[in-house]
Amino acid sequence: MATRRAKTPTYEANRTQFVFIETCGCPLGLVEGSYAKTEDGAWDTFCDTRADERRLRARGVTVDHVPHAEYTERYFPLMLTGCTHTSAAGA
Ligand SMILES: [Zn+2]
Repeated sequence: MATRRAKTPTYEANRTQFVFIETCGCPLGLVEGSYAKTEDGAWDTFCDTRADERRLRARGVTVDHVPHAEYTERYFPLMLTGCTHTSAAGA
């Protein structure tokens, strides 16, 4: 197995998403797996500032790194409906 990553991500087959999840279980947003190698990298990509990142982490937001198929099945429908647990997600 090659240790070096291909410059062009192989779309779909190797596609993954880092999904940011609220404490209620609803997805808050995502970062394409091709934009970040690690969960920490995904946080950096997702948040504009360290303060933002700290605020979300302190709120209990977590990251789930999933294959695209799983994202489509589990999270995508929730992304469309939005959080139904509170009127405001706290932002
Ligand atoms: Zn929710």
